[in-house]
Amino acid sequence: MNLELSEEQEAVRRLAEDFVARDVAPYAVEWDRSENVDKSIVKKLGALGFLGLTVPEEYGGSGGDHLAYCLVTEELGRGDSSVRGIVSVSLGLVAKTLVAWGDEEQKRQWLPRLTSGDAIGCFGLTEPGTGSDAGSLTTRAVRDGADYVINGSKMFITNGTWADVVLLFARTNDTPGHKGISAFLVPTDTPGLTRRTIHGKLGLRGQATAELVLEDVRVPAAALMGPEGKGFSIAMSALAKGRMSVAAGCVGIARAALDAAVGYAGEREQFGRPIAGYQLVQELISDISVDVEAARLLTWRVADLVDRGQDFATAASRAKLFASEAAVRAANNALQVFGGYGYIDEYPVGKLLRDARVMTLYEGTSQIQKLIIGRALTGVSAF
Ligand code: FAD
Repeated sequence: MNLELSEEQEAVRRLAEDFVARDVAPYAVEWDRSENVDKSIVKKLGALGFLGLTVPEEYGGSGGDHLAYCLVTEELGRGDSSVRGIVSVSLGLVAKTLVAWGDEEQKRQWLPRLTSGDAIGCFGLTEPGTGSDAGSLTTRAVRDGADYVINGSKMFITNGTWADVVLLFARTNDTPGHKGISAFLVPTDTPGLTRRTIHGKLGLRGQATAELVLEDVRVPAAALMGPEGKGFSIAMSALAKGRMSVAAGCVGIARAALDAAVGYAGEREQFGRPIAGYQLVQELISDISVDVEAARLLTWRVADLVDRGQDFATAASRAKLFASEAAVRAANNALQVFGGYGYIDEYPVGKLLRDARVMTLYEGTSQIQKLIIGRALTGVSAF
């Protein structure tokens, strides 16, 4: 594995760093307080090519490899996890899954709009009654002539309020030993689809997270993505790659925590000198730096495997498990360095901790990642 960035990778990283410094970081606290990221950020992300990374240019993508994607995601995560999540879902879970599983017409219909930021995608797997056990979902799509009619509801859907299209997973048939789930591309303006914004989240407060309700939503059979009954595999393959992106975002959080802790420790004086000079404060800071480096290496390892076409699913679970726990630890350590000032939102570390916390929950909780890794190592499923 080559740990040197190419010129192109370094250029795209710097582009993301500048963008975050100019268009994201200065507004992150305001968006957090108002529970509303400025939606115009989506077009800006598209114009810079950040919503099309790794997508072929013929579909409006900006090409690039998965390491470049991780570099951009890390920078966005450093600036504001709510913005990072827009990209991780619209590109990472929807556009990239379309590239892998969509037919030509679906790709032409959605990819140029998703990659430019003209349209936003969301990923509808979780339901009020099924989270970790996603294979038991109950939203149902019934074939009716040339259409499918879909009924059910989806919970905690990132980008849900803003999205133009939902990559929706619904049960289509139930044969023994078969999950019977299929994937559909459902425009969110389809009659019968309603959404409710979920307010009061602990973190990612700027992000448009929604509950979707589907009542007799009628879509043509052409909305089916991939073969009928293949939806669970499609969802799992999407999430495996998605975990790499979550991990990269976590590296960004940990880096932001490190920068903040080092900066504050150098300025804050107690007992007559900067707290940076105290060994116990240095311990907090050095622990954060180890978490940053270790999480980044695990994440880059996944990108390397993906780019070389090798099996990456277990490595992605390892990276996501470690990086998400590391981001929580790093933000918590940084908060300790800030003392009481870390506890008020005039300073950045409280938000980092709140934003980091969900990373251990979504796209598979830490417990679920451990079961995936354990199954790969032992050959025994403990689910
Ligand atoms: P549960 O599955 O009920 O788990 C509760 C607890 O039980 C957890 O600690 C879990 O680890 C543990 N547990 C469950 N099963 C086992 C087991 N077999 N062994 C050991 N422990 C177990 N979903 C989407 O589809 N699309 C999205 O865009 C999306 N975005 C999200 C954004 C936010 C802000 C949040 C909070 C969630 C989002 N989710 C999304 C949903 C997320 O993926 C789920 O919340 C997550 O999978 C956990 O499901 P759950 O909340 O139902 O918890």
